Amino acid sequence: MAGVDVALRCRDCGRAADLRDWRCTRCGGLLRLEWPGLTPDQRIDPAARGVWRYRPVLPAVGASAIVTLGEGATPIAWIDRWAAAHRLGQVGVKLEYLNPTGSFKDRGTTMLVSHARSLGLGRLIEDSSGNAGASVAAYAARAGVEATIFVPAAAPAAKRAQIERVGATIVPIDGTREAVTEAALAEVARSGAYYAGHNANPFFVAGMATFAYELIEELGATPRHLVIPTGGGSLCVGCFDGYRRWFDEKAGCQRCPRIHAVQSSGCAPLVAAIEHGLDRVPAIRRNRTVAGGIEVERPPRDREILQAIRRTGGSAVAVDDDEILAQRRLLARTEGIDVEPTTAAAFAGLARLAKDGVIAPDDMVVVAATGAGWKDPG
Ligand SMILES: *Cc1c(COP(=O)(O)O)cnc(C)c1O
Ligand SMILES: [Zn+2]
Repeated sequence: MAGVDVALRCRDCGRAADLRDWRCTRCGGLLRLEWPGLTPDQRIDPAARGVWRYRPVLPAVGASAIVTLGEGATPIAWIDRWAAAHRLGQVGVKLEYLNPTGSFKDRGTTMLVSHARSLGLGRLIEDSSGNAGASVAAYAARAGVEATIFVPAAAPAAKRAQIERVGATIVPIDGTREAVTEAALAEVARSGAYYAGHNANPFFVAGMATFAYELIEELGATPRHLVIPTGGGSLCVGCFDGYRRWFDEKAGCQRCPRIHAVQSSGCAPLVAAIEHGLDRVPAIRRNRTVAGGIEVERPPRDREILQAIRRTGGSAVAVDDDEILAQRRLLARTEGIDVEPTTAAAFAGLARLAKDGVIAPDDMVVVAATGAGWKDPG
């Protein structure tokens, strides 16, 4: 029940890495986890609920190191009225905003902070448009470790206040989202604190696989499509990894729903890469968007995201701010589901995919409702 012993290795040059590293000390490449095989009866701790129900297939941390606030085990709501308005049949919404800090980021954070605690690390540094920062800040408070969160100066006030209420140090940075990451990394280099950056840290993505495990356990039928608002791609990549780990490489690819990554047209590097058949994102021109949570110009995991999309037969789609805001309102008024604009982008994307015939009326779809409406009231 203690989880699996993982090793870390550089994705690019193959060098073995220390469990305290978050990128390769030789070439700077991102790290991937190496897992031993597992037998089917080892996957679940039936006594536990939520993310830690899957502890046998998560990276090993000691029982006393686990930092949890009750994340995971989110319900699925079937939105028949919204679906009918878009000529769709079965649309399920996985209510990820019911996670402890109001976003799906808690799945990755519980794993990441538990890992950091098991190594005895005393300070975490994170850069975030808001939700990952609020999540890391809360779990750090629970773990009794210090957190410093770098955010864009334009981050929504509700998210900043959330970070401050749990006692983290917040550092607002003027400039692009990339400037925020650079400032965080400069502080990591200066201080030696652990980099908990959710777009790069392999333990964060490992926690995201539990989203897939819950779909597999909860739904009798495999949904044909999965629609995810995507920036750094932790949920796309974690979910695809989850299917391949739960089954095996081949069966996992077949069983995983088609992954549709929705971006804002103000910042849509993945859409550009898919359109042009590239394996990395190209440089893009970008504009302001209301969907700040998916505004990531150069996602470090671009290759893995593009692979998850292509190997599942999915797509990448960009939607405009007016479609996002219209869908936010429609979803709230027809179904009582109040999400932040970043999340509403997924519904705008689904509406577009239905209209374009990529998703057929009788296909089962699951949408990840990643963040709560109160976080970004607008
Ligand atoms: C972070 C975030 C996303 C995007 O997740 P990535 O892992 O960066 O792709 C989507 N929705 C909300 C509400 C978020 O906070
Ligand atoms: Zn390397």
